[in-house]
Amino acid sequence: MAELRNCARCGKLFPYIGRPICNRCVEKEEEEFKIVKEYIYDNPGATVFEVADATEVSVDKIMRFLREERLEISSENVNLILECESCSRPIKSGRYCEECKAKLAGEMRREFGIGQRKRENIRTSGKEKMHVIRKREGR
Ligand SMILES: [Zn+2]
Ligand SMILES: [Zn+2]
Repeated sequence: MAELRNCARCGKLFPYIGRPICNRCVEKEEEEFKIVKEYIYDNPGATVFEVADATEVSVDKIMRFLREERLEISSENVNLILECESCSRPIKSGRYCEECKAKLAGEMRREFGIGQRKRENIRTSGKEKMHVIRKREGR
């Protein structure tokens, strides 16, 4: 006879067959999983927080789907699990958000004097670069 356990999700007793949740909850999770998967499919750049917001599935659960490798992480939606190492804000790529990156770069420059020589180089070609950027923004 199957061992009875409390469902980790709804708390009801159910015959344990290797899963921590009961059949009914498995079905519900399956549905949520499908919604999350579809959302990520349509919004490959979304962060885990955006997905949670849009699908009303908790961040914890989405992270679990990811950990269980049920959600395929392509190079496009890999940013789902990235957080800024400094302030924990969700980020698209790398280790820090733009703000912390700028802050860190500023600290580096002050401490090691890095970038001073580079700045002179930028000065000579700076106008050209500004021009290009403006053109793009105006489009
Ligand atoms: Zn249950
Ligand atoms: Zn940050």
